[in-house]
Order: sequence, then C-alpha cells, then structure tokens
Amino acid sequence: MGIENPMVWFDLDDTIWDMSGNSTIALTEIYNTNRIVSSAFGASGLQGWLDCYHSINRKLWEKYDNKEIGRSTLRLERFAQPLICAGMNRKEAEKLSRELDGEYLQLLGDCPGLIDGATQAIAAIQARGLRTGIVSNGFREVQYRKLQSGGLNGLFSPIILSDDVGCNKPDSEFFRHAEQTAQTDPAHCIIIGDNARSDIAGAIDAGWGGAIWLADTSTPIPECLRKRPGRWLRIHHMADLAKIR
Ligand SMILES: [Mg+2]
Repeated sequence: MGIENPMVWFDLDDTIWDMSGNSTIALTEIYNTNRIVSSAFGASGLQGWLDCYHSINRKLWEKYDNKEIGRSTLRLERFAQPLICAGMNRKEAEKLSRELDGEYLQLLGDCPGLIDGATQAIAAIQARGLRTGIVSNGFREVQYRKLQSGGLNGLFSPIILSDDVGCNKPDSEFFRHAEQTAQTDPAHCIIIGDNARSDIAGAIDAGWGGAIWLADTSTPIPECLRKRPGRWLRIHHMADLAKIR
C-alpha cells in the first residue's frame, strides 16, 4: 500500500494562509482596542508595536522549531517581551500577555486572508489527481479555524499538526508520522513551504521525494539550503506551482 499513492503536502502559515498579513490585522486590532498596549508603545506607536512583536515572535519560533523552548514559553514570551521592551515590568507584562494571547488567537482565527495564488495552486494540483495534505507547526486551537476562515475546509486530508504529533518540523519523526497517516512512503511525498529549515531542509532530510521552497526574489538562500544543493526547487509565487511538471 502507498507506493503508487503520491501526496502533495502544504505548509499552512505563509504558504497558503497569509500569516504575516493576518497577524498584522489582529495585532492592529489589539493595539487599537487595548489602551495599556497603545500607551506602552507611546511615541513608537502602532508600527513600533508591530515591529517589536514580529521581531521577537520570529526569534521565538526559531527556538520553538529547534526544540529550545516549548509552546507555553513561546506563547507567553511573544507578548511579554515586547511589553517589557516598551518599559513594563515582567510581572505586569506576563499578566497582560496571558490576556493578549487568547484575544490574539481569537482574532487571528477569524482572519480570511490567503497567500496570492494559493487557492488556484491547490486546485491545479488536485486537477492532476494528486492528494493534498497539510503539515503545520501551528497550534491546534487556531489552525482549524484558519482553514475555516480561509474557505479551505475539505481541501486537505490528512491535516498533520505538530501539536498532535508531539514534535515539530524539521524533526524527521514529524515527517514519518505524516507519511504513515497518509499511508504513503517518503519518495512519494512532496512538500511546498516557505520555511527553508523546517519545511524544506526537514523534508529533504526525511527523504521526501520533492521539496518546493516558496520565497520571493529578495530572500537570500540560507545556509541550510546551500548545503543541500539539487534537492529542492524554488518558486517566487504560488502561481508558479502550476508550471512545475
Ligand atoms: Mg510557514
């Protein structure tokens, strides 16, 4: 079973669902409705809040993907650290962070924004008779809501979340779990994702048959991909996916 059962796996955040854009919408709503947040960022204003959050959040996710921190630390620190940077003491920042975490995930899950060309790319893949699944490191309580809000329900099976597997991409164990759930083998799995290390290097190291990196023209090729030449393809836009044979 599975040998003739090819599978195309999509990362969700910033590959299909516009995490960056939707996150900015949710964070802007928090800034506009929470006086403690807006006054803490005073002179630097909304842009200061967004830049600080995104910068800290990106570093925390790298640590999370590398298993250096767990999800509770990530979720606490991504709001606590920006507030501390803005001058709040840690105790107050942690208290407010717990409130903001719930509010943020609620707002985020309602955002419908998708990456340009994503729905057409998924349709083109499915029109070839290939199965489509999701492999995501996102949190269970919000990933299904993103699919719903983005009008993506029913397009993917199976949906593999790190929360359910117990380990994250790029851990090979995550990829093994995905193959087994879909009853296919590594050679017949192809991944499309925006994260060079978690999605692309992870899938290559797990022996997957194809790895397609979504990165705009301004993104330099990171070390993890330079060390794995000839094992991956790059697309600059999701519309380019339909052109790959
Ligand atoms: Mg991603």
